[in-house]
Amino acid sequence: MPASAPVSVRDLPDVGEALAKKLEKLHLHTVWDAALHLPLRYEDETRITAIADAPFNTPCQVQGTVAHCEILFQPRKQLLARIRDASGGEINLRFLHFYPNLVRQLAAGQTVRAIGEIKHGFFGAEMIHPKIRTDTDAPLAESLTPVYPTVAGLAQPTLRRVIAAARARIDDGEVLPEALLAQLKLPPLRQTLERLHRPAPDTAPHLLTDPAFPPRQRLKFDELLAQQLSMRLARHAREQSRARPLHGNGAFGKPFAAALPFALTPAQQRVCAEIRNDLAQARPMRRLLQGDVGSGKTVVAALAALTALEAGDTVQVAVMAPTEILAEQHYHKFHRWFAPLGINTVLLSGRTRKKAKDAAKAGLADGSIRVAVGTHALFQNDMVFCDLGLAIVDEQHRFGVAQRLSLNDKGDNVHQLMMSATPIPRTLAMSFLADLDVSVIDELPPGRTPVRTKLVNCRRRSEVEGMVLHACQHGRQAYWVCPLIEESEALQLQTATETHARLQAALPALNIALIHGRMKAAEKAAVMAAFAAGKTDVLVATTVIEVGVDVPNAALMVIEHAERMGLSQLHQLRGRVGRGAAHSTCVLLFAEPLGEVAKARLKVIYQHTDGFEIARQDLQIRGPGEFLGARQSGAPMLRFADLDSDLHLLEAARQAACELLARHPEAVAAHLARWLGSREAYLQT
Ligand code: ADP
Ligand code: MG
Repeated sequence: MPASAPVSVRDLPDVGEALAKKLEKLHLHTVWDAALHLPLRYEDETRITAIADAPFNTPCQVQGTVAHCEILFQPRKQLLARIRDASGGEINLRFLHFYPNLVRQLAAGQTVRAIGEIKHGFFGAEMIHPKIRTDTDAPLAESLTPVYPTVAGLAQPTLRRVIAAARARIDDGEVLPEALLAQLKLPPLRQTLERLHRPAPDTAPHLLTDPAFPPRQRLKFDELLAQQLSMRLARHAREQSRARPLHGNGAFGKPFAAALPFALTPAQQRVCAEIRNDLAQARPMRRLLQGDVGSGKTVVAALAALTALEAGDTVQVAVMAPTEILAEQHYHKFHRWFAPLGINTVLLSGRTRKKAKDAAKAGLADGSIRVAVGTHALFQNDMVFCDLGLAIVDEQHRFGVAQRLSLNDKGDNVHQLMMSATPIPRTLAMSFLADLDVSVIDELPPGRTPVRTKLVNCRRRSEVEGMVLHACQHGRQAYWVCPLIEESEALQLQTATETHARLQAALPALNIALIHGRMKAAEKAAVMAAFAAGKTDVLVATTVIEVGVDVPNAALMVIEHAERMGLSQLHQLRGRVGRGAAHSTCVLLFAEPLGEVAKARLKVIYQHTDGFEIARQDLQIRGPGEFLGARQSGAPMLRFADLDSDLHLLEAARQAACELLARHPEAVAAHLARWLGSREAYLQT
């Protein structure tokens, strides 16, 4: 079956501009979108229950004659009608808002149908705001009535009509191989849609909304399959493109590794080998290096860079970091490591002075500079690399999609290594990052002792100041991180300044420095350098130090208003300590009252130190959409599948995608046309 252009809902009968606009608000653009718009719940209009037998607190439909109807004004204006049927039962129908038309419909002697739940009311059994039908001769519904999610001004009957019309327009013939469906025990698509949109009257209501209901499983599977297929196609397209193979010969890497004061962990060695292997291929590397905070990704990046540099006398490497402070720190490390090997490194950040910048630009353009470290300023339009072979992106989750694309602009054929300490749980990685190769550093360097975490009420701040004094008197250093104030950078600055002043007053024996985002790059660099060199004892900081900062002698981290921060942020901040052999402590100061989410977060960070486990719990607290952030994923979120509970379906979809691509290309095209239809653009990114 060829994949034809999707039919728009506008092509359905009686869908005019106004209705189409409302449908768009529900993201219903194509007839497939509409056919996949599932009910929230169902009403049973297939039978009429005798009033005398009608259950309490359960939706039901009754029919009776109005015995009495009046408008009351006490305690507030309301319409009260009493109906009675042949069973001898009677109930009240009560309306707090009503139109004059309803008063006419409920005039004494009229026969009406009412759908709702019967409750015990002040005047006896009653339905409040039931749905009323006066066409009591109409035949009863043959299936349960779907109630769809909708928007203001779009009534259920209209939406039902559109969805029914859309279903009539789609070809819901089966495109997946029967054997696959049989193996997974999934029903055919046509039957799936029928059972969800028009369930038979005897379908148990709880079953319909149960995620394990086979028709729901089928849709989740189809959705995950579409996602896997599109990822694989994107990946396939990338693998078709060419890049220059970079074969390292160890000329730089060997002396570099030998000069390190430590040996690489087995995990670091493994990922280095994976990267070396990628670089030697004739297609561009797109590898994500994941490793918990402190697992030692920077030396791996350095070795990757050296492999590329070994491969040719002109090859250049760019290293991009999300913050000025981190770029600066990386620059210092790379410069220190690479200069002895005769490799020139420059720093390029948004705040690099014009003269230095011009010199760097010239050096990169003529090839005399081989390594550039910087913020996203590195990839601005006016930057020209003479022979860029490898781009390394640190803390890649901090970069937006646009910035990642601008990197691609510098050459599709450039090998890319992305690094992240925000561990992405396996399910998310499998579904959203399926077009990348992933390497994981799954062990910390030896000799680390886990950071002790303490939760302290902020009223006990002076005790914490005592801890700072104690640590510093024993030759250690401390961070004191000021609260995140999202609404106002100015306010955050003020708090940081005040905290600094207060700590100086409380701890006159210590040398206390302040760092924040508004300082000039040179000032920040000087403050960081002094702290790294052990010249200052305490660094009061805003969250600018959140990622990457590496000062192994710092053993105490105090975080104010920890209840305001997200889990990955807390984990990152805590990861600034525990980098040396000394016992480290992280104090989370919190202020009451604590909300439920804040409580849950603090509990998780208190109980766990493993970044993957924290990320998993974070995912549970926040849900995948927020966890990834639209900014980060750029991918459409899942509507049906739930990555936490549908792992088995995700695995099945992954396997099925492989098989379909190899053996049923026509099914692939047809399936993607249904599921991605108007979102085709996404296939290209
Ligand atoms: P991250 O993965 O968070 O970026 P870093 O690369 O900053 O971690 O490394 C954290 C610290 O661990 C650094 O001080 C680094 O020198 C040190 N380190 C890295 N690898 C090892 C190793 N194999 N043995 C001991 N220390 C190491
Ligand atoms: Mg790092």
